[in-house]
Amino acid sequence: MGLNIQEIRSDFPVLAEKVYGKPLVYFDNAATTQKPVSVIQAEADVYNHYNSNVHRGVHHLSNVCTQAFEDVRKKVASFIHAASSDEIIFTKGTTDSVNLLAGSLGDTLFSVGDEVILSEMEHHSNIVPWQLLQKRKGIEIKVIPVTDEGELDLDAFEKLFSAKTKLVSVTHISNVLGTINPIEKIIETAHKHGVPVVIDGAQAVHHLPIDVQKLDCDFYVFSGHKMYGPTGVGVLYGKRKWLEIMEPYQGGGEMIDKVSFSGTTFNDIPYKFEAGTPNFAGVIALGAAIDYLQEKGLSKLWEYEHSLFEYAVEKLKTVPNIHFIGKAKARTSVISFLIGTAHPFDVGTLLDKLGFALRTGHHCAQPLMDRFGIPGTVRASFAFYNTKEEIDRLVQALGQIEGMLG
Ligand code: PMP
Repeated sequence: MGLNIQEIRSDFPVLAEKVYGKPLVYFDNAATTQKPVSVIQAEADVYNHYNSNVHRGVHHLSNVCTQAFEDVRKKVASFIHAASSDEIIFTKGTTDSVNLLAGSLGDTLFSVGDEVILSEMEHHSNIVPWQLLQKRKGIEIKVIPVTDEGELDLDAFEKLFSAKTKLVSVTHISNVLGTINPIEKIIETAHKHGVPVVIDGAQAVHHLPIDVQKLDCDFYVFSGHKMYGPTGVGVLYGKRKWLEIMEPYQGGGEMIDKVSFSGTTFNDIPYKFEAGTPNFAGVIALGAAIDYLQEKGLSKLWEYEHSLFEYAVEKLKTVPNIHFIGKAKARTSVISFLIGTAHPFDVGTLLDKLGFALRTGHHCAQPLMDRFGIPGTVRASFAFYNTKEEIDRLVQALGQIEGMLG
């Protein structure tokens, strides 16, 4: 059975909003996705019915809340096919997960002069934490270049390895270009050199079926809010063999075994990495987001989103003076473009007045903007609740705007 898009749209209350009296067209899904009622309700249910701190109490509410929280750990593990739910660490989001890795793995793996390989298309959250490690420990950062098409140059990647390479950390899908990187090949190459790999799955986990065991990645990180879940919650998957040897990232309650002033011992994984009260309401709502995606079927959602993407590329080509950034062969439903010499901010502001929510700017990927010699792009990113009619409206609006700014 195909998807009933109107029914799906009615699951997302915000889509009925008007902006300046015009129906909202939400094309900023790569920044954050909207939330279905079931996710909003799951979080409200925690506060309405069983809010209580997890792992701490002997009382009924705490047990209910702990159970719901831990059930989501299992749900996430099965969603990404982790070998065990102990390998799932709850964080605040992708940024927090990468910081945890740069902090903890940074201490465990790196000495002065050791190297990490990143790519030119990384989000700042997969660059700056490593630069902080560079400052702390004197490590080197090497960068996989991006081709004119917006793909990673894999021949150049092979040549970046040295005896000092300790880690590769790359994005699965670019938040700017939509490029789906060949992470299977990247992981295989890195492992040939005995180097572990971190995959930033912030733009991928809600689009593609992820099997971390098949991929054989060492770490996979993502954010709840980009996969129709709440803000302030994310995931770090790590292979047990790494998590067990990594030092804790933050200290505090929950992450300990025994504390005394003569010395402290730490809890087992995953708790060793979850200091303090977690965002349990957010985690529980993330579980509802996974249920929603699985109920609809990731592959059906992908198929529909891809049809929107292909439709949009064809239609947008008719806008005079449009220039696309990124033409990778394998892409998700993200399109970055410029109109003539107009600044992306001006295009975005005019679109806003017409009810469109699109992202403009550098998208937290300034090195990629430098690579293409541009200050930023206008980015349309589609989700399964978008429609071809909305794309037609965008094309028409851009035609108008091009006439004004042209
Ligand atoms: N990586 C990528 C590829 C992203 O698109 C984003 C969000 N734009 C992040 C990391 C950071 O995610 P968060 O802000 O949720 O931590």
